[in-house]
Amino acid sequence: MNVIRHDWTKQEILDIYNKPMMDLLYEAATIHRQYHDQNTVQVSTLLSIKTGGCPEDCGYCPQAARYHTDIEGNDLMSVRQVKAQALRAKASGSSRVCMGAAWRNVKDGQEFEDVLEMVRTINKLDMEVCCTLGMITENQAQRLAEAGLYAYNHNLDTSEEYYKEVISTRGYEDRLKTIDNVRKTNVTVCSGGIIGMGEEVADRAGMLVALAKLSPQPESVPINALVAVEGTPMEEEKPVAIWDMIRMVATTRIVMPNTQVRLSAGRTEMTREGQAMCFFAGANSIFAGDKLLTTPNPDVNADMEMFKLLGLQPQKPFVKKAQPETVEAEDSKYEALGEKPKWTRPGHTIDRNETAKQKAKEIIEDK
Ligand code: SF4
Repeated sequence: MNVIRHDWTKQEILDIYNKPMMDLLYEAATIHRQYHDQNTVQVSTLLSIKTGGCPEDCGYCPQAARYHTDIEGNDLMSVRQVKAQALRAKASGSSRVCMGAAWRNVKDGQEFEDVLEMVRTINKLDMEVCCTLGMITENQAQRLAEAGLYAYNHNLDTSEEYYKEVISTRGYEDRLKTIDNVRKTNVTVCSGGIIGMGEEVADRAGMLVALAKLSPQPESVPINALVAVEGTPMEEEKPVAIWDMIRMVATTRIVMPNTQVRLSAGRTEMTREGQAMCFFAGANSIFAGDKLLTTPNPDVNADMEMFKLLGLQPQKPFVKKAQPETVEAEDSKYEALGEKPKWTRPGHTIDRNETAKQKAKEIIEDK
């Protein structure tokens, strides 16, 4: 087996990314087979438990309150609603439920208590539970761990340099800090990014340098292709070429051999042949369900047909790591600390974000 390296340079990663396609595919598929069962793919269901109205300015995101998109916002779902959705996801073959809330960061209070109860409830259904709730403190990460959380998602999105062209309301270092807080618990880390936001290939390599440097490397790395939503600052971006996606997946697989590489947003734009090439290149996780938070995704039946065609099996839950125990709220050894950490707010101007915000204002004034 290849040794897991944390000292990749951007140039080394670029050299891999730019290899002749056949060499790249062969190398990635070889490593994939050394570390994983090549015919098994982990299937997650992403559930938007609180949609829209987000105070951040992520340039790709239709949930940012400052842009005008046709997203219908909703308050935090109830534990009962989440349980019903989780049961449905389990019945259709998902081993993991990932709950996403459009928050800047987690705040101690009733909503977080509800999320903890959702985690307990889903873990008791013997499904892996993942949350993506924005920045979290170590205490909040510990409380999630105690509730039975299996994974926490917090994406780096892109390279540190290009990040400044995407988001101005929180810094890259906060992303790393959140990942570090999660690492102090037994919760696994899910962190990846998005391609097709106007970045250079060097930025894709830069993001992989930052992820590979983490020790241990994230257990899961989602690779998203931008879904350019009307009204967001990135509405004009061209769809990502499938070859770029294949190269990115293969490079991620080579640089982080033991990680589950997740083919995430943008699958509706890919043919089955394109997705099959991604699986061959080392992707071994997908999101199922007809919505990815707010953007379209292939429906579960179409995915199961594709699995049958390719002879792929959905991965069983807790294959990579044992199921965490759930500690009930009354037995918890952690309490809400009511911390108010000073997460950064760089506040620089990103022209396209400003333009989209201005456009949104004009639309609202015209109404
Ligand atoms: S990506 Fe998350 S933090 Fe950024 S605007 Fe969207 S919901 Fe908010």
